[in-house]
Amino acid sequence: MSEAKIITRLLSDTPDDLRQAADLLRAGELVGIPTETVYGLAADALNGQAVARIFAAKGRPQDNPLIVHIAAVEDWAPLVQAVPDEARRLAAAYWPGPLTMILRRSGRVPAAVSAGLDTVAVRMPSHPVAHALIRASGCPLAAPSANRSGSPSPTDAARVMEDMDGRIAAVVDGGPCRVGVESTVVDLTGCAAGGRPRLLRPGGVTATQLEAVVGPVEIDPAVTGRLAEGVAAASPGMKYKHYAPAARVVIVRGTPEDYAAFVNGRAGQGVAALCFEEDRGALRVPCVSYGRRDDPASQAHSLFEALRRLDEQGIRTAYAACPSAEGMGLAVYNRLLRAAGFEVIDVNGQTTGS
Ligand code: AMP
Ligand code: MG
Repeated sequence: MSEAKIITRLLSDTPDDLRQAADLLRAGELVGIPTETVYGLAADALNGQAVARIFAAKGRPQDNPLIVHIAAVEDWAPLVQAVPDEARRLAAAYWPGPLTMILRRSGRVPAAVSAGLDTVAVRMPSHPVAHALIRASGCPLAAPSANRSGSPSPTDAARVMEDMDGRIAAVVDGGPCRVGVESTVVDLTGCAAGGRPRLLRPGGVTATQLEAVVGPVEIDPAVTGRLAEGVAAASPGMKYKHYAPAARVVIVRGTPEDYAAFVNGRAGQGVAALCFEEDRGALRVPCVSYGRRDDPASQAHSLFEALRRLDEQGIRTAYAACPSAEGMGLAVYNRLLRAAGFEVIDVNGQTTGS
């Protein structure tokens, strides 16, 4: 479906502008909104036509469902069927915040939101602007990341404009996103029958934090690996090549010294390092850094912006320093792995991926 080119308004977070944005949402239009994770492309989740526009504006595959954002725990009542006790406890511990829960869907949620699944993804964001817009519009907001499908998610309003100018009614500038990667997604639909919660996508709430509240959590194999051909994805978004810049990204696993030697040995036209701040001094190729080596929160905060910078600088191949996959690092590793199309080189000899 192609849409006529429209003028995209850039709004601020003043009460007047938020009112305009809320009016647009209520009228079924699309608005780019800040959240604490990444910018979202929001529409009234209960308006099937508005939801269809999200898929068109992003070029998003129809089988990739959307997350519905609410402003208070009780707002989930019309969206879901039975709510397991685990969901209530996680909401009490981590909402508002970067945690999405998969629950059984009610008949009120348009099928397009859930891409035909009988479940729905629900999150209560903590960003004050997201919160204010849900309240002011009176709509639960379906909002995937506000990038063109496949590109790195936008973490500030200018990046949303880059992808969405002329495709959506407005973007609300709420400053840069605090977390920088998308929410943790946990599937609780098996809990009623005694099953464990299942982590489908790592994010700002870590597996350890989930386990502190609900006990053992299963990690879906798609979190750290590539789905085999023909295997159904528990989280459809995980099966797509994702977060990818035009540049080829290769993850290099090894000590900081191994990494520097490997990258310096490949210096040449269009080669760059996607490195940690601390690596810069030892590298003899152009560097784009994504945070500090022992600070996964700083890596999450900068990764998507760094991926977009690679393309702005005309980089053809970026060798990425490998993050630790512990704690918040798992979310960083999960995104980088997809940006790299699963191409990982172990400096000590083993190569995985394509
Ligand atoms: P994004 O909106 O870009 O953060 O992507 C939303 C993510 O949540 C994607 O990976 C989806 O596949 C996943 N998701 C949304 N709804 C569901 C659902 N009902 N079941 C499983 N995964 C979901
Ligand atoms: Mg996305």
